[in-house]
Parts: sequence; C-alpha cells; structure tokens
Amino acid sequence: MSLPLMKNYIDGEWLASDSSALGDVFNPAKGEKIARVAYGTAADVDRAVKAAREAFPSWRETPPLSRARYLFRLKEAFEEEFEAIAQVLTIEHGKAIDEARGEVRRMIENVEHATSVTTLMSGYTLEDIAKNIDCYGHRQPMGVFGGIAPYNFPAMVPWWFLPYAVVTGNTFVLKPSEQVPMTQTRIMEIVDEVGFPEGTINMVHGSREVVNAMLDHPDIEGISFVGATPTARYVYRKCGETGKRVQSLGGAKNIVAVMPDADLAQGMPSLLTSFFGCTGQRCLSGSVLVPVGEIADRLVEQFAAAAQTISVGNGLDEQTFMGPLISAAHRERVLGYIDKGIEEGADLVLDGRGIQVDGYPDGFFVGPTVFDHVKPEMTIAREEIFGPVVSIIRATDMDSLVDLINTRDMANAACIYTTSGAAAREFKYRVKPAMIGVNIGIAAPMSFFPFGGSGNSMFGDIKGHGQESFLFYTDMKVVIERWY
Ligand code: NAD
Repeated sequence: MSLPLMKNYIDGEWLASDSSALGDVFNPAKGEKIARVAYGTAADVDRAVKAAREAFPSWRETPPLSRARYLFRLKEAFEEEFEAIAQVLTIEHGKAIDEARGEVRRMIENVEHATSVTTLMSGYTLEDIAKNIDCYGHRQPMGVFGGIAPYNFPAMVPWWFLPYAVVTGNTFVLKPSEQVPMTQTRIMEIVDEVGFPEGTINMVHGSREVVNAMLDHPDIEGISFVGATPTARYVYRKCGETGKRVQSLGGAKNIVAVMPDADLAQGMPSLLTSFFGCTGQRCLSGSVLVPVGEIADRLVEQFAAAAQTISVGNGLDEQTFMGPLISAAHRERVLGYIDKGIEEGADLVLDGRGIQVDGYPDGFFVGPTVFDHVKPEMTIAREEIFGPVVSIIRATDMDSLVDLINTRDMANAACIYTTSGAAAREFKYRVKPAMIGVNIGIAAPMSFFPFGGSGNSMFGDIKGHGQESFLFYTDMKVVIERWY
C-alpha cells in the first residue's frame, strides 16, 4: 500500500519538495507506518521565504481589525474541524484522545487571544516632551518570522506563535516536527480554505536542513523555537550570529513537591496527570516527585498504587489514560533510563518495562514507572527522560526542597501541594522556575499569559504567547515631532 506523502504549503499551493530524503510517520500505538514526509531543503525554505516576503507589504497595510477577521473565520473553521484535528493528532502522536482535544482547545485559544490585536498592538503618545514637541511610539510588523516546533504538541505549539505573528502584520514560515507532520498538514488545509492572502502563512516540512536554512536565511527577521535544550541553545546562538530576534524554549526537569500538610485525596488525580499524562512527554510534566518530611512513606505507597491502575492503550480508545511513546527509538531511550536508575541504586517500586497492551503488540509502550530513594546526583534525577518515569527524592524541609530545585540547570516549572498559604508563598517566592503550580500539577499558562521557563529551559527574553507576543513580533518605532 502506498503511504500518503506530506506536502509543503507555499504561496497558497501544495508543493512536493524535490528532496529525495524521506522520513516515515508512525502510528505509535500500532508501531505501523502511516505516512511519509520529505526532509525539505534550503531551496524549499527559500521558496517559502520568498513567498512570505512578497506577501508582506500588502498584508502589513491590511488594517489590524481586517487581519483579525481572518482569525475569527479561522477560529470558526477550527471549531468545525475540532474532532478531526484531535483524531489525526492522536493517530500520529499517540496521546489520549481527550488530551488531544485539550490541546486543540488550547490551540484555538491562541487564535482567539490574537484577535485582541487592536488593543494589544497599540503604542503610546506623550505631548509636549519639550516646547511644541510631541512624541509617540508605535508598533510595526517586521517582515517574515519563522516557527520551529517539537513533536509533543503537534497542534498547539506552532499556534503559540503563528496567530500573533500574522495578526500583527508579519508573514510566517512554519516547520513542524518531522515526527508529526500530519496534524499541521490538516490544519493548513483549513488555513487554505479560510483563504488568507497567498504567501501569508507557509509551511515547509523537514528536519535539520530546513532549520539551518531558516536560521541562515537573510530574509527571516526572527525565530520562535520550541524543542530540547541542546537544540534550543543552538538555535539561540545561531540567531545571535545572524542577527535575528529569537525566543527559544528548551527542555525541562520539573519538580513536584508534596508538603506534609497536603491533601492527598484531593491532589492524587492531578499528580497522576502531571507525571503520566501525555506519557510524560510534556515540557510541564512532573518528573521528580519530592515528598517533604513525614508524608513520604504515605505518599509513595498511595502514588505507586494509583499509578499501577492507570489504563495504558491506544489513545483513540476513550478509556485510555496513557498512550504510547512517540517512537521505537524514544522507547529505547526511556528504557535505557530505567536501566540506569537500577544500576545507580534507586529503588524501583513500579516497573513499566515489558508492559503488554492487548491488541497492540507492536506499539511503543512503556508503563508507569516509579523509583523511590533517588539521589539528586543520579542520572534519572538530572536528565530529561520525557517518559512515564518518576524519580522520588525525599526532602527534609523547605530549605532542602528549594535548594534541590534551584540547583537544577533546567528551570521550566515547579509545583507544590500544600494546605498552607505560608508554605505556598515561600515556595513561589524562592524557586527559580518561571511557571509555578500550587495544588496544580501542570502549571500551563493560558494563551493570554506568557509561556516559558528560566535557566536552560528558555533562551531569549520574551516568552511565548500572552501580551508579550505583541512585543516580540513588532518593532517599536518612536517619532519625535515638531510643527512650527
Ligand atoms: P528537538 O529539539 O529534537 O526538535 C525540535 C525541533 O528542532 C524539530 O522541529 C526538529 O526537526 C529540530 N531539530 C532537532 N534537532 C536539531 C538539530 N540538531 N539542528 C537543527 N534542528 C534540529 O525536540 P523534540 O524531541 O521534538 O521535542 C521534545 C523537547 O521539546 C523536550 O525537550 C521538551 O521539553 C521540549 N519542549 C519544550 C517546551 C517548552 O515550552 N519549553 C514545550 C514543548 C516541548
């Protein structure tokens, strides 16, 4: 059977890349190839940037409210195709269908928030800064922006960026992850139906060659990137060299703390979602669970017992809580971390290796896995595993908890479970990560707040979405004016 080949979307047309390098796209629940994607070339990128460059002058002149109206239409079209997008997302990514629906909802919320352009793109004015002189600053679009996405949120992450870039009058070139190209292909079909002016929104599939061509391209003004920390650092450095504006969001190793006074019965469902939702493949997933003080034995026992009951299966099955990992290679990587944890002396209290999922013998599954008595210096406590593997590090008090968090180089998110307002305040005040959950296991800012971590979890100053996006995608022009 011949597999569908994902095409690029450039200048309002679906074009095949001339690249002969092809990658496979899998249904990870079945371990089966379902599509192919060309690893695009510098020529593909150049074609897309040229189209975006040519579309820019008239798009820029389109009044902001008229630009926003395209987004209103797009929102309606997305609502109509909501379930279809969620289904393709689960098929190629593996996440549980309800998580896919939640992701599509978050994608649409960014389209909604971007329609605030007429307010949030405004500048400011001051009369009489000197005798007969007035001054005003206004925000102008800059040209072509590029977006480069990871595999773990195939629908949402590109839309942390694209709607804001476009509504402020820029044009856009997107490179989705080559592991999950089908979701954005479906989404671009909807973009095409809505009928944005040709060249306003473009998409080039591929891998490193496409990324490097984007980073080197002189007609791309800025880059929004999300991916692993080494790639994020590389993108940030390259953009510095080529003089591009950049926001580059990296990996994570999030700590979730449970204080002795926490309400475990209330907190357990969101703790499970934090560590095992999306099969641990979220930049906001809990990775290290830290009981503080005397709650440790009780927490470990209840958490491991609850984790054992998690239903693992095909994400399309409504009963599934946890789907497979993205690929066979990633499953091997995660299994390697479990071996490492055992080798370094952590206590394996729940073993997810060798899980058998009825009807899916070839899926890329790893079951919920929990290590107790992990030491901060162990590999599983330091490196991003990006799978359903929990490391429990027992802490004695708030000081040792804060020390543990603030000595990690990745500082994306941190969460605390407590019934004490004073403990919560001290935690919020002292820890370094930039996204904080209080009795919330996934501290995910909504579209109208900024998204991004600190330390090696984010390079650049302006975070994703929120009001800040309107700053990232525009340049402030200041006019000082005197009329005699
Ligand atoms: P990745 O870094 O492997 O890939 C991200 C993108 O970069 C892809 O489009 C890929 O094609 C490209 N890429 C990969 N290696 C490259 C290289 N050497 N040179 C140039 N381009 C390259 O990340 P991933 O595995 O797709 O995604 C998972 C990672 O993303 C995790 O580390 C996760 O924490 C992170 N993530 C972070 C956030 C955040 O908000 N901070 C959100 C989602 C995911």
